[in-house]
Amino acid sequence: MAQTRKQNQKQNQKRYPDELVRRLRNDIRWQPFLQRLNWPHKHREGQLAFLCPRCQEFRTAVNPRTNLGRCFACQTNFNPIDFLLTIGTYDFVEAVDFLTTMLPRD
Ligand SMILES: [Zn+2]
Repeated sequence: MAQTRKQNQKQNQKRYPDELVRRLRNDIRWQPFLQRLNWPHKHREGQLAFLCPRCQEFRTAVNPRTNLGRCFACQTNFNPIDFLLTIGTYDFVEAVDFLTTMLPRD
């Protein structure tokens, strides 16, 4: 039985297909995402800047090519999942569920 429980646990961790997680990293648009979170952000010199959830600085930018948010103050890169986990009110499952509702529809 212990074996079965262990296998179940593993299945729970693998609950999300890699393809979905990849889309959540790459296809979530930051501006609507930050807006929906009601998280401080602004456009500055053609780039989207946001309040860093790690160090609370605003020296940040979203790189449209990689879809990563970068904080130059604490040198951290965030994908949307990292960002939600860093805010601290979402665990991984909640972060994936939240972001899934924000994926662009094909
Ligand atoms: Zn920072």
